[in-house]
Amino acid sequence: MKEIVFATNNAHKLQEVRQIVGDSYKVLSLSDIDCHDDIPETADTLQGNALIKARWVKEKYGYDCFADDTGLMVDALDGGPGVHTARYAGPDCDPQKNVDKMLRELDGIADRNAHFSTVIVLILNGEEHAFEGRVDGRIATSRSGSAGFGYDPIFIPQGYEVTFAEMSADDKNAISHRGRAMQKLIDHLRQSQSI
Ligand code: IMP
Repeated sequence: MKEIVFATNNAHKLQEVRQIVGDSYKVLSLSDIDCHDDIPETADTLQGNALIKARWVKEKYGYDCFADDTGLMVDALDGGPGVHTARYAGPDCDPQKNVDKMLRELDGIADRNAHFSTVIVLILNGEEHAFEGRVDGRIATSRSGSAGFGYDPIFIPQGYEVTFAEMSADDKNAISHRGRAMQKLIDHLRQSQSI
């Protein structure tokens, strides 16, 4: 089986991606290739950060690789936190603090429209490609559900009345930002006959 690195150690994301990729590739994580580097995410765009991570793995470890970066863009926060989504609640933040801050900031605000966007950069056979996926929705007024990770308990995708954290992994993958970007990645791999 061909091997490809997904530049992450997030177990939830790896599980989601392995489910989508199926048997066509063995998807390795950063720790699988003994990469414990603190890869800088200093770009001011999602694509810029994904590119930094993918190039880091290719240049230092020699593996073909894909890397993703995701942002949550909230209309009432002028598109924020965007590229700062992971560290929204400050340097010592965690998912719980990030969600608490989001609920606080939107307290009493009627416009709760938001979208997730993921950019995946692939480096394969010496070429770089970028794929984007987006899901529109709204921020709930309180948490619901225990599946998923990150902001899932407060994100209600458009056309649904439940949060991502109340959906099965399959249902979330079918419509999520990362699922859609991954589907484009897989279509590309199929077209270039890498699968
Ligand atoms: P990253 O680029 O994947 O590290 O994600 C940036 C931020 O968005 C982190 O705070 C993640 O928890 C959050 N995030 C990414 N993907 C999802 C998702 O599918 N659901 C909820 N939160 C997510």
